[in-house]
Amino acid sequence: MSLPDPESTADVRAATATGVVGKNPDFGATLASRGLSLRRIAIHTLQINVGRRCNQACRHCHVDAAPWRTEAMDAVTFARVERWIATHRPAVVDLTGGAPELNEFFRPLVRAARAAGCRVSDRNNLTILSEPGFGDLAGFLAAHDVEVIASLPCYSAANVDRQRGNGVFERSIAGLRVLNAAGYGSRLPLHLVYNPQGPRLPGPQEELEADYREALRRDFGIEFGSLYTITNQPIARFAEDLRARGQLDDYMELLANAFNPTTVEGLMCRTTLSVGYRGEVYDCDFNQMLGLGLGDGAATDRFLWDVVPGQLEGTGIATGPHCFACTAGAGSSCTGETVSSFKIQV
Ligand code: SF4
Ligand code: SF4
Repeated sequence: MSLPDPESTADVRAATATGVVGKNPDFGATLASRGLSLRRIAIHTLQINVGRRCNQACRHCHVDAAPWRTEAMDAVTFARVERWIATHRPAVVDLTGGAPELNEFFRPLVRAARAAGCRVSDRNNLTILSEPGFGDLAGFLAAHDVEVIASLPCYSAANVDRQRGNGVFERSIAGLRVLNAAGYGSRLPLHLVYNPQGPRLPGPQEELEADYREALRRDFGIEFGSLYTITNQPIARFAEDLRARGQLDDYMELLANAFNPTTVEGLMCRTTLSVGYRGEVYDCDFNQMLGLGLGDGAATDRFLWDVVPGQLEGTGIATGPHCFACTAGAGSSCTGETVSSFKIQV
């Protein structure tokens, strides 16, 4: 039996959204009108973006990552970040990019974070596993108990190749097989990430996860843990693409009209500290790409080594219209939906 195309169900919840916000949405005013404010609690995750270089150049990329980007963490910054991790020992160190594995300090960061007792995640694009020189990557990740969070925006080859480039689906499946053989999806954690192809909200995470599991097991014998659905952020390459097609305003309106106040409590910026390749700090990776500095959104001149975690608790978070992508429908974060079951509250 063939499974539904995730793209055909992606818009359903948007159609039932509240319709209360309209054009030119103001995120702060929307929170205030619901009696909500966005403040930090204790830091759980240190998310480090080690650079913009990637072996791919996907259409939806919020980082504008590509093979020709040169921004990358250097040795001095690595040493300072390593010291901060050893001192403050965040529960999770989440490594992202670009393709973070391309950075020369990726493996040293993994070792340093594991030595400090942190859980470590690698945001892995799967094709990196078949790049020359990366044949030992899966073994390295497994040997250090690194959690792998892998992008696979569909179980259909056509949809993946349209978004990420020709041949990416086949290489992604090969990458998943390598990870399964190394113990990922059974004794080690392997999670997949879905994002819609275009200006739509993702379908329900639980249903999509069941479809992914069935399709990947049946067609390729592949096993994984959870599926995380992530709403595309209206920034960087994705925003440019929508603007060129005349769809950006409609997408912003869709996100704002799907505002769900129950998502706010679980927004990742409340518990995550995002670090750039120079060591500068932000409330999230999206704010990092927009240059919105930690807390007040001013141009960032604050670095990880200036931050004492306890002092951030209760402080505000820099927001903008893009934040509606995190609060639409069931919510969106780097670990998927932020509310366990979808509820729109008017
Ligand atoms: S979406 Fe991921 S894999 Fe694609 S270009 Fe951006 S960082 Fe690379
Ligand atoms: S875009 Fe960043 S700051 Fe805005 S709600 Fe999402 S995680 Fe929080």
